[in-house]
Amino acid sequence: MIFQRRADVVSWGRVVRVPQTVAMPRFRDEIADAMMSEMPGGLLAIGQRRSYGDSIFNTGGHLIDMRALDRFLAFDRDTGILRAEAGVTLGQIMRLAVPAGYFPAVTPGTRHVTLGGALANDVHGKNHHVAGTFGRHVTRIGLLRSDGYRELSPGDNLFAATIGGLGLTGVILWAEIQLQRIGSSDLDVEITPYDSLEAFWQLAEASTASHEHTVAWIDFAARGRKLGRGIFTRANWRATGSLQTHSEGFRRSVPFEVPFCLLSGPSMRAFNALYYRVQKGKRGPQVQPYADFFHPLDAVADWNRLYGRRGFYQYQCVVPAGSMRDAIAALVGAIVQAGQGSALAVLKTCGAIPSPGLLSFPMEGATLALDFPNRGAETLALMSRLDGIVREAGGRLYAAKDGRIPKETWAAGYPQTATFARFVDPRFASDFWRRVA
Ligand SMILES: Cc1cc2nc3c(=O)[nH]c(=O)nc-3n(C[C@H](O)[C@H](O)[C@H](O)COP(=O)(O)OP(=O)(O)OC[C@H]3O[C@@H](n4cnc5c(N)ncnc54)[C@H](O)[C@@H]3O)c2cc1C
Repeated sequence: MIFQRRADVVSWGRVVRVPQTVAMPRFRDEIADAMMSEMPGGLLAIGQRRSYGDSIFNTGGHLIDMRALDRFLAFDRDTGILRAEAGVTLGQIMRLAVPAGYFPAVTPGTRHVTLGGALANDVHGKNHHVAGTFGRHVTRIGLLRSDGYRELSPGDNLFAATIGGLGLTGVILWAEIQLQRIGSSDLDVEITPYDSLEAFWQLAEASTASHEHTVAWIDFAARGRKLGRGIFTRANWRATGSLQTHSEGFRRSVPFEVPFCLLSGPSMRAFNALYYRVQKGKRGPQVQPYADFFHPLDAVADWNRLYGRRGFYQYQCVVPAGSMRDAIAALVGAIVQAGQGSALAVLKTCGAIPSPGLLSFPMEGATLALDFPNRGAETLALMSRLDGIVREAGGRLYAAKDGRIPKETWAAGYPQTATFARFVDPRFASDFWRRVA
């Protein structure tokens, strides 16, 4: 493998820009060769860089960009078991699987993620309450470590460390997953505007048994009795219909970085208020193709440039069921008071299905995710206040979105970190791990 120094490796939040040393292998045996020699600063495999913070950086070390390892290895159309190299994206899987009547059992809010990345963050989707995390549907992993190649199955300790293991247990070369059967590529979707956080909890509770997918968007322009108002969306796959794949093209793109002045509190509040009114107008039942329902942001190329040259932070936490109502009210209240609420804010309840990974993020309760344009110290101070609320509630933050939490905050949310550390390959490292371990 040929490693090159590159300045254009950025994570999705674009806050940190540090040159990285990267190689892009085309064949699996090239990676094995690199592992035979001691690599200063260690190795880390990366995928489509859809993580927001520093979990994809290994400054002073080496990155293996897995995107060219994108071959399908096997697909059983009777059982829905698919085996593919780690660089295959969920979008590619959908294009293969949808016409055959299958879909990934879990998809995050973008399909531009690799199989390896989805597995290494144990990603979750709008159906967490019925399907759990991505890792629950992984049946086998081919993992290359500095001490050799292993095939892992659910139940193995190294499997539990690799699911949600942030690339630190070795290079995932390929994975086998169980796809979900679908009768149509469309969903029956119902959009319901709601007026308060109390109304959100009622809708979420009423929808858990009847709907496979639930999620809400929060309007951070609303205050007082309307605090936490938003748009609740719930959906089920249609039982029958056509099986059409998404288009690969983007409907729009962001051609330049938006000037920072447009990202002020008043602009964001105006955007939120407008978005709320537009969505409210769409209330009621409707049919949506899967791409519109699951991945609306994928229609806009490089939407992360909307936050300007200084980039943005995403804050995603989960709080346990017992404290979620108070904690979510406190978090939303603190964000509204600070006047930093972003346009893209999502609230969702998570179910009780246990995650298979030692460091998996979801827990039974509620997760809140939102973007903050990077205003430097002001934004960091707000996020630190939010950390305190999350910690007090017994919750934790999502590594895929993080680039700044202190070691103690990480350790409080992930008590399994010491157990996980025993499975970290000694030749692997990341900026994230150096920060929290
Ligand atoms: C618009 C948008 C919406 C999102 N919505 C959600 C959501 O709903 N739910 C959710 O859970 N996440 C969500 N995410 C986060 C995203 O799903 C994860 O960050 C995902 O892991 C990114 O995959 P990737 O291929 O880009 O991996 P990268 O971001 O490149 O890497 C992610 C991690 O995987 C490791 N890794 C990658 N490939 C390998 C490999 N072959 N072997 C070993 N380790 C590897 C890396 O070291 C890193 O630690 C969203 C992100 C965006 C941009």
